[in-house]
Amino acid sequence: MTTTRFAPSPTGRLHVGNIRTALHNWMLARKAGGEFILRIDDTDAARSKEEYVEAIRADLAWLGLTADREERQSKRLDKYETAFQALREAGRIYPAYETQQELELKRKVQLGRGLPPIYDRGALDMSNEERATKEAEGIAPHWRFKLDHEEEISWEDGIRGASKFDPRLLSDPVIRRADGSWLYMLPSTVDDIDMGVTQVLRGEDHVSNTAVQIQMFTAMDAVVPAFAHEALLVGREGKLSKRLGSLGCDSLRKRGIEPEAIIAVLARLGTSLPVEAISDRAKLLDTFALSTFGRAPAKFDDADLERINTALVHAMPYDAVKHRLPEGMDEAGWHAIQPNIDILDDAEEWWGLVTGPIEHVDFSDADRAYLGQAVNHLRWSKDPWVELTSALKETTGRKGKALFLPLRQALTGMDHGPDMGELLPLIGETKTRARLERAAAG
Ligand code: GLU
Repeated sequence: MTTTRFAPSPTGRLHVGNIRTALHNWMLARKAGGEFILRIDDTDAARSKEEYVEAIRADLAWLGLTADREERQSKRLDKYETAFQALREAGRIYPAYETQQELELKRKVQLGRGLPPIYDRGALDMSNEERATKEAEGIAPHWRFKLDHEEEISWEDGIRGASKFDPRLLSDPVIRRADGSWLYMLPSTVDDIDMGVTQVLRGEDHVSNTAVQIQMFTAMDAVVPAFAHEALLVGREGKLSKRLGSLGCDSLRKRGIEPEAIIAVLARLGTSLPVEAISDRAKLLDTFALSTFGRAPAKFDDADLERINTALVHAMPYDAVKHRLPEGMDEAGWHAIQPNIDILDDAEEWWGLVTGPIEHVDFSDADRAYLGQAVNHLRWSKDPWVELTSALKETTGRKGKALFLPLRQALTGMDHGPDMGELLPLIGETKTRARLERAAAG
């Protein structure tokens, strides 16, 4: 069975970058009939906030990316402790005492000599006495995972293909701070093992973490899951990180972007498949495959999202939106107004043309006389607009703009808008007549 997970740290709102990761993990699981886990990476108690945990859940629910299971790292600290002790006994974890400044200095020296800034394993050379001295000085150790330099790291990446790392070119990662708190690397591996994760799909910024974690899986005698790393999402003008605030789930929602538009865009961005206004998830799932993912950064363009959003709004059936429409707006109303809106919230404004009041337009004497004739020609039938305009065309000789615009202005207070033929029956006979009379009176 396929098991995937989305593992956000609750230190902020979801944005297009991590929504994409969540979506693709959800899709992998759904397509395979497997399980999708939401794992809250909240070991950093100082930065994690409950309000963000709730926001992440709400955002995922809004996007329709429901998890089959939710796990929280803060509830699993004993598991990490157990794994830590076992790895320590096996000689795969060691204490280190360098301060940040010392490490920084070492790095500078290495870089100055043209060497890669890899941790020199100074702590492994310490004698028991030296360690005891540090502890006596009140310096508690932080802890590093000891990479096996003889074990070459390789995996078949679901997106990047055959991938390889020489462990000698990696620093032994710090996995636990001096205060006992956990860094990301070990808890994530312990969780992936315990939760039976079979497929890890995440951003390419995690590639070197994967190299380290593969050795952790092996050190804990576990099966290494399949890994795949997506190319990062970039903005049109480069980095997306600065704009992520405006690309947060909450901002997108406030801007009237539909969840299905976000899903349609992010499902295929960075793949060889075209980004299209597809609201049917089954269809998106059908074509979803890691083999379609490219290695070049995926370009996210806000204009694409808006274009897809508008196309989806224009295709929304009444039944799907009726609970979100202005009061009194029925299917005919939705049909009349739908082509004129980019976001659903705009329906309210257009519906105001039907319910009124409308803006008053100042007409020329000639137009007022013309509108007076319109009052006389108004007959309420199945298609009052066609009847009215045909009669006026015949009797006044007006055509085109001169025929239609004064009527539209008198009836809606605007120069453009929904199809008048559809609008008139919605406005109704009484209001139509009253609006024409008022405009004719000036
Ligand atoms: N909490 C980690 C992150 O947000 C999870 C990475 C992973 O998928 O393993 O980057």
